[in-house]
Amino acid sequence: MRRDRGRGGSSSDQRYDRIREARARGYEGDQCGECGNMTLVRNGTCLKCDTCGSTTGCS
Ligand SMILES: [Zn+2]
Repeated sequence: MRRDRGRGGSSSDQRYDRIREARARGYEGDQCGECGNMTLVRNGTCLKCDTCGSTTGCS
């Protein structure tokens, strides 16, 4: 028996949905530190943003 007394839903679930959606579209599901979009794709040993072109770590 579950008694979930809702507090208006959890924001963590929404965040997880965004990650799942990003992965379904071929992205890693991480958020870009430059533009904030979840469009990071694997680029060798680091990640590259498909939106703004910035990379994480590697240069
Ligand atoms: Zn970006």
